[in-house]
Amino acid sequence: MHTDARTLEPNSLIEGDICIIGAGAAGISMALDWIGGPQKVILLEAGGFEYDEKIQQLNDGQSTGQKYYPLQSSRLRYFGGTTGHWAGLCTPFDDIDFAQRDYVPYSGWPIGRKDLDPFYHKAQLALQLGPFEYDLAYWKNSYPNFEPFPLDKNIIWNKMWQYSKARFGSLYKETLVQAKNVHLYTYANVVDIHATENIAAIKEVTIKDHEGKSHKVSAKYFVLACGTIQNTRLLLASNSQAKKGLGNNQDLVGRYFMEHLEIASAELWLLKPSNTGLYIRDYRVTQPSAELAITENEQRRQKILNGTVSLIPLALGRNQIPKMVTWQDTDPRKAQEITFSQGGEAIKKSAEENMGALSKAFQLNTRIEQAPNPNSRVTLGTDRDALGVQKASLHWQLTSLDKDSIRKIHELIGQQFGISGLGRVRLMEFLRDVKDPSWPMGTNGGWHHMGTTRMSDDPKTGVVDGNCKIHGISNLFVAGAACFSTAGAANPTLTLVALSLRLSDHLKKRLS
Ligand SMILES: Cc1cc2nc3c(=O)[nH]c(=O)nc-3n(C[C@H](O)[C@H](O)[C@H](O)COP(=O)(O)OP(=O)(O)OC[C@H]3O[C@@H](n4cnc5c(N)ncnc54)[C@H](O)[C@@H]3O)c2cc1C
Repeated sequence: MHTDARTLEPNSLIEGDICIIGAGAAGISMALDWIGGPQKVILLEAGGFEYDEKIQQLNDGQSTGQKYYPLQSSRLRYFGGTTGHWAGLCTPFDDIDFAQRDYVPYSGWPIGRKDLDPFYHKAQLALQLGPFEYDLAYWKNSYPNFEPFPLDKNIIWNKMWQYSKARFGSLYKETLVQAKNVHLYTYANVVDIHATENIAAIKEVTIKDHEGKSHKVSAKYFVLACGTIQNTRLLLASNSQAKKGLGNNQDLVGRYFMEHLEIASAELWLLKPSNTGLYIRDYRVTQPSAELAITENEQRRQKILNGTVSLIPLALGRNQIPKMVTWQDTDPRKAQEITFSQGGEAIKKSAEENMGALSKAFQLNTRIEQAPNPNSRVTLGTDRDALGVQKASLHWQLTSLDKDSIRKIHELIGQQFGISGLGRVRLMEFLRDVKDPSWPMGTNGGWHHMGTTRMSDDPKTGVVDGNCKIHGISNLFVAGAACFSTAGAANPTLTLVALSLRLSDHLKKRLS
């Protein structure tokens, strides 16, 4: 069922068993999981079915610290969420991503990869991916030309990726609108969360529109699925009862904001042309591809973060302008258009320049987790949005472990190419001086917002527990990458959908 919340009588009361706030990858995956059940599910979405400038502006916020994309254009605020224009690259987290590593401060999740595996299978379906198979050996059956570089397997392995074309807005609109027990409200911007007097449970949330009309929504369980930054903002801004914001007794909400660093880091020169079909991603088709990765043992030995390295033809890499430069418009559609058109220019120029070097020279691009850092954080700014809610302020901050790990990963890859006699690797300028702490202009994030309500069984070190429930509040949960304790090397959406489906399962058990 669907209702445009702008058509409701003022001060309406909406009631249900479970209230999911936000209809993006996390919220929609959860809502789909409840279709046909006995419970009444309320799905509240800030926007409509199409992009709306007035609604998008509610994502506006300030950014300090490491240069970042404008907050307004780094997330989409309408039905389907940011899957409306995501790139769709998916791969699961590795075992080591969940582990406590003594050289990575604040690492370790209270759950492990095996706890997520059953839900990864379901997440693959929601994201319309292939089978939950990420072994090169499996894919080699279908793609016999997939030829890995013959490098030492104790040090380097090939991490496989699949490619999703799922746009949740168009894909799942009809299913949800037709579902009898799921009540989708669009233009339902949640602006406040109200707890019981002792702040031990949530009673209701307030939704508001641009005309000033507001309504209340009550439920047995509430799930925040607004995306990492908006989840955090809502918790902090709901401060009429808990002065520091909900779930924030320990001053942890908003801390440990993490991104994936995607940085052009080195050049690979092969001594002779080689079959690189396994590694070169073709966005026009959905076939899987691989990135070079460092084995878990070697990561521990070198005390480095988890990261992968992708290959693109060098002529293309050299002509590309970093995303952090091209994606600076506050309108996400314009930011994307500028970035795409620059990408098109780079492809054209590189085709002209390349002249036969295509299969010999490559740019190596790192994709790496950043180490959890309490000073990398989201807080509330002083300005308010059109609905009266304080805007978010992001202070993105990196650490020396992040840069040292990028350098080490490329040194290891370079050594392996040298030993095997396949080629040579040349580090980019910013990595050459081990004492240089600076970051290059092309320090891109992947638009992957993670952390800020991190998971830990101990309320002193985390905001949510192993079931994504906010510590100290019996019926408030967070769905999405905000719960990640560490960021892994993998893009977040497959894992955040799996985690949301695990939460869904947990709530079903509680309700029954
Ligand atoms: C250009 C780009 C490329 C990307 N490529 C990849 C990729 O290749 N692989 C990958 O894994 N990830 C990628 N991502 C990240 C991916 O889009 C996110 O991880 C994913 O969409 C997060 O899902 P979510 O449900 O948590 O948040 P979102 O998808 O952002 O959904 C949040 C929803 O909550 C709603 N909402 C927000 N505030 C409120 C409120 N107060 N009240 C009610 N509703 C609210 C929003 O309108 C939105 O619909 C990319 C992102 C961008 C921008």
